[in-house]
Formats: sequence, C-alpha cells, structure tokens
Amino acid sequence: MDIVEVPTATESRQSAASEGPAPDLIAEARSVHRIYETGRVNVHALNGLHLAIARGEMTAVMGPSGCGKTTLLNCMSGLDAIDEGDILIEGVSLQSMSDRERTDYRARRMGFVFQFYNLMPVLTAVENVELPLLVARQPAGEARRRAMEALELVGLVDRARHLPDELSGGERQRVTIARALVNDPAIVWADEPTGDLDSENADEITDLLRRLNRERGLSFVIVTHDISVGRQADRIVRMLDGRVVDEGSIFAATPMRARSGEGSS
Ligand code: ADP
Ligand code: MG
Repeated sequence: MDIVEVPTATESRQSAASEGPAPDLIAEARSVHRIYETGRVNVHALNGLHLAIARGEMTAVMGPSGCGKTTLLNCMSGLDAIDEGDILIEGVSLQSMSDRERTDYRARRMGFVFQFYNLMPVLTAVENVELPLLVARQPAGEARRRAMEALELVGLVDRARHLPDELSGGERQRVTIARALVNDPAIVWADEPTGDLDSENADEITDLLRRLNRERGLSFVIVTHDISVGRQADRIVRMLDGRVVDEGSIFAATPMRARSGEGSS
C-alpha cells in the first residue's frame, strides 16, 4: 500500500501560495457582485465575494438571514446572473457559456436540494426522481432504472410508488435528494435542506448527505441556519453582508481524495 503524506494545513496553504500543485477546485467565485435593483434602493446582495470549493468537500455556508447565502448559491450554480466578477465551475467560466450551455451544464453536472421539496404533487416518488432524466431525453426504461437506484441510495425503494402527500417531511426531502443525485452530478447545491424538518428528521437528512459525500465523493455546498449541519461538514464558511468573512480551513478540512485528485472522474 502506498503511504501518502498528508500535508498539514499550514504546509498546504504555503504550497498553494507558492508554485505547488493547485488544489482541485470544483467551483470558485472571484470578486462576485450581485446587485438587486428594486426601484428606489439597490441591494448589494453579494459584495466582492470570494469562495473556493474543493472537489469532494462538504461545505456549510452559514450567516444571518439576508446576508446573501441564497444569492450566493443561485449565482455559483448559474441559476442567477452576476453583475461583476467571475464564477468558475470545474475551471470553466459560467460567463463564457451561452444560456443554453449553462442550462445543459446544470442538467448534466449539478444537483439541487431546496428547503421546500419542489416535488410535483401528482407524480409518484420514482416519477419525480426520473423527471430530470426524461427532460434530458433519456430513454424511459433507463430513466426508471436510474431513478430506482437513486431511491435505493436514500433508502426509499419501498416508497417509490407513493405520492409526495403520502410521505413524511423527511421522506420527501430524501426524494428530493434522490432527484438531485439521479444525473450523477459533480456537485450538489442545497439551500436550507433541513429548514422545514424537526430535529430527528433533520439529523437523518444531515447523516445521509454526509454519507453520500464520503461514499461517492460528491461535493456538497449546503446553505444552512442549522449548526448541527455545520458540525457535520468539512468546514463552515461564514458570510456577512454579501461577503465571506471566514472561509473555515479549506485545506485542513478537504478529504484526502480531493487533495490527491482521486474522486475527479
Ligand atoms: P439569505 O439567503 O442569506 O437570507 P438572500 O441571498 O436571500 O439572503 O438575500 C440577500 C439580500 O438580497 C437580502 O437583503 C434580500 O432582501 C435581498 N434580495 C434577495 N432576493 C432579492 C430580489 N429578488 N430582489 C430584491 N432583493 C432581493
Ligand atoms: Mg436564503
């Protein structure tokens, strides 16, 4: 077995600052500004924000209500446009893509989990999960097979034919997570995924995200108010007034596979 020397946090930062191997970043925001023009006042929701996300990390983004967390997530995932700066996803500038390319990229490489499940009420669990694949014109049989696999990952195969109304809040959120995973994304963006759940269900969802991160090397960026989600993450990024005020320790926290470039397939 190879013995891999794991650099200390300080060594990593030094090598990143010098000519050493660059960390494998899956997403990066560089001096990003997002201004909402609302008639009389402009809201500077992101104000020169920098943030780097390493591949394979589980990152929690925390900060007071209104500090720009949702805006950050929407801008970094390309759901929303920015006014200044640059967003790089897997090294590619979102600004350099056409709308069509951005949408395709999102469908292929990204998953989303929101506070309020956004499930279609008239579709069963498995139909909700396979929907993104059908929209992406995958054959129906293949879509169903992959949707069932995703439901198995979140432990919900036995609820596949239930409607969202027939599921608990925690189960609904697990369907949403299965839907986010079904296209085998490189990164999953989650906005307050436990925000609507009681603490027991919230813990279950947090454990599930943690397990998916560890077992599948999935990168997660989780916006949350919930410190117990933050504690499970590799690091906590703190925001205030549209900026990152504390990045946490990215290199100390990044799992080894991300440093060594393994989970980069
Ligand atoms: P958070 O998710 O941290 O609570 P948001 O990103 O939702 O914060 O909002 C950041 C700031 O931008 C807040 O002051 C909010 O009121 C404002 N904001 C968010 N969305 C809009 C919008 N569509 N139009 C105008 N202002 C907005
Ligand atoms: Mg928000």
